[in-house]
Amino acid sequence: MVVVMQPGASTAQVAAVVDRVREAGGEAFVSRGVSRTIIGLIGDVDEFRALNLRAMAGVADVIRVSSPYKLVSRDNQPRRSTVIVGGPDRGVPIGPDTFTLIAGPCAVESAEQTFDAAEMAKAAGATLLRGGAFKPRTSPYAFQGLGRQGLRILADVREATGLPIVTEVLDAHDVPLVASYADMLQVGTRNMHNYALLQAVGKAQLPVLLKRGMQATVEEWLMAAEYIAQRGNLDIVLCERGIRTFETSTRNTLDIAAVPVVQRLSHLPVIVDPSHSGGRRDLVLPLARAAIAVGADGILVDVHPAPEDALVDGPQALVGDDLRQLASAVRRLPPLLGRRPAEHLAPAR
Ligand code: PEP
Ligand code: MN
Repeated sequence: MVVVMQPGASTAQVAAVVDRVREAGGEAFVSRGVSRTIIGLIGDVDEFRALNLRAMAGVADVIRVSSPYKLVSRDNQPRRSTVIVGGPDRGVPIGPDTFTLIAGPCAVESAEQTFDAAEMAKAAGATLLRGGAFKPRTSPYAFQGLGRQGLRILADVREATGLPIVTEVLDAHDVPLVASYADMLQVGTRNMHNYALLQAVGKAQLPVLLKRGMQATVEEWLMAAEYIAQRGNLDIVLCERGIRTFETSTRNTLDIAAVPVVQRLSHLPVIVDPSHSGGRRDLVLPLARAAIAVGADGILVDVHPAPEDALVDGPQALVGDDLRQLASAVRRLPPLLGRRPAEHLAPAR
């Protein structure tokens, strides 16, 4: 562990940190730089954590040097990654230079509904189509998705619109099936801790969209990504989709700070899902704006041609003016932050 002192930290403040570490049985080595002093610690990391060094006067930060994740860590690769979805010919980048809009229905319900939703998404500037054929539902009596038939519909809609497909896989055994249709495999919030599934998508030759578990810390989320990377697949995009807190006025609490936190820890692209976090149509635009402003590499948004008839998540689906406003924000705001819209590498048909 390393304790980074604030630029103007006094000698007494540095000595206080050193004393506290030594009293706990650790060793502390002070390095004085031109503008800052850092203190390297040797000893038991868990014991150091209990010392609450971060709260001491003059301390700017306490950094764990050897992170538990390696392949996805920024220590391992300082430059932020760009993941290309849809193959080298018509792929869409997700990364630090661009802003990618992924949009589509929560669930594939029919060919017509999916096609209409894809046209809406495309008109709004989306370059990737989302849509679930396998739906993880809280109730076993709720619509579970069309399964293989849903995948076929997605493939037809890709053919018609040129939009590569992002779709969820629920079970490790289904990875080959879903991968034979999809351009990107989504691992949903409920499955972030499903290590067999993480390993299976790690062996697939497709990019993975890894949603944050609704109760997962950033570290657990990055460890889940590490499982995928460890099996040989580094084409991972992380998606912050809200976490469970005591707050009940939104479906989940969007942890917007997680975006810059994760971008500092990991080289992987990070996008935000303003639909599943807020769970309400009126919150999608403000949360999307927040995502753009905080530096997210893209957003994932639910749209539906007739939200009142949607089988899943109608209350958060965009249509009409709400979608037009989102499209306008996605067109206008990212360039102010030095990002260009994520176009297909070669023009879509
Ligand atoms: C989804 O994107 O369709 C979905 C089910 O999201 P989450 O896993 O974040 O709930
Ligand atoms: Mn949904």
